[in-house]
Amino acid sequence: MSGGEQPGLLPVEAALQRLLALAEAMPVADNERVALADADGRVLAEPLIAGLDLPPWANSAMDGYALCLADWTGEPLRVSQRIQAGNAPQPLQPGSCARIFTGAPLPAGADTVEMQENVVVEADGRVRFSEPLRLAQNVRAQGQETRLGEHLLPAGTRLGPIELGLAASLGIVELSVRRRLRVAVLSTGDELVEPGLPLGAGQIYNSNRRLLMAWLQRLGCAVVDGGILADDLESTRAALAALSDVDLILSTGGVSVGEADFLGVALREEGQLALWKLAIKPGKPLTCGQFRGVPVIGLPGNPGSTLVTFGLLARPYLLRRMGVQRVEPLGFALPAGFTWSKPGKRREYLRARLQNGRVVLHPNQSSGVLRSAAWAEGLAEVLEGTTLAEGDSLRFIPLSEILG
Ligand code: AMP
Ligand code: MG
Repeated sequence: MSGGEQPGLLPVEAALQRLLALAEAMPVADNERVALADADGRVLAEPLIAGLDLPPWANSAMDGYALCLADWTGEPLRVSQRIQAGNAPQPLQPGSCARIFTGAPLPAGADTVEMQENVVVEADGRVRFSEPLRLAQNVRAQGQETRLGEHLLPAGTRLGPIELGLAASLGIVELSVRRRLRVAVLSTGDELVEPGLPLGAGQIYNSNRRLLMAWLQRLGCAVVDGGILADDLESTRAALAALSDVDLILSTGGVSVGEADFLGVALREEGQLALWKLAIKPGKPLTCGQFRGVPVIGLPGNPGSTLVTFGLLARPYLLRRMGVQRVEPLGFALPAGFTWSKPGKRREYLRARLQNGRVVLHPNQSSGVLRSAAWAEGLAEVLEGTTLAEGDSLRFIPLSEILG
């Protein structure tokens, strides 16, 4: 981590690459085994390997009749057995078919299933197949999903409902996951008061603490509440020193090289400090450093800036420290439903929604405002130095892509 100021503005990609490099230098190496029921949101520490074939045996994809097409003469067939899901079938008697239901094992000797809608059951109980048959139709072959020993998910996969369902389908009860990252949230500013207390003159409620703590929990982090830090050097030092056992100190506010930038002073004295000026709006000032060896990221204090810089920079950093490979949100090219006539020096992330397939903006893009972010479905990216006419393509990043 190099100290000092950057000349000019640091492009978003460059800042992200630096943060990811820092994350890769300090990966979370410890793993733990957790029950599947507790694994949602965690990161796989080892690849998920199939311990059996899926499906374990050939089975029917339909309610219908199983037969041996290779031996069939075209005549109606008598029904020699009835096989429901969960039954163990007898081998198919030659010259017969089996009544079979979805998910039931195919009897030995059968190779094809016809769905019940395409058969006629004759008066004597024999079954006539009225449509042409194709070998192996409506049969789910053994191992069609996976074979024993196949790698299904790489280490570093974030586990969600689908991955947990997949693991359960293999009979897995526990998974090895990365231990949770411990992240401390510090809010700086003499003006801040926690909800529940009365507001004094000049005071505002602390919104970033709740925003970040909820977000970090969704990311599978163990959150340490660092509370509110007054704007003074002694308490800043003391607060940082009390957080020696966390993986990251995440603070908001006090990074705009103002006179109340005590975080910067403390880091400079007892760690390292890089003050980045990012080509991002909302955002711009970001502190990246460490205090007595503990990494520190200082986000700008305006809640809109906290949202954008956490979502686009700190979130990927945290995920990469957990070993996650795909850390960047998906974005979609969509037509602008607005015009942008003044090219900016910074890349803008505008609180936006989709309306009739076009991206429209909230009228209030102030960095101090969360209400427009609550209205928004995503962030519309307007690149530095560009203008847009209605219908021009831009990248739209759904908030759902970054909030979890
Ligand atoms: P700062 O970066 O400390 O100069 O803060 C920039 C703006 O964000 C100021 O208007 C602060 O009052 C506001 N702010 C800083 N921290 C918070 C917070 N935790 N919750 C709400 N607003 C904040
Ligand atoms: Mg402040």
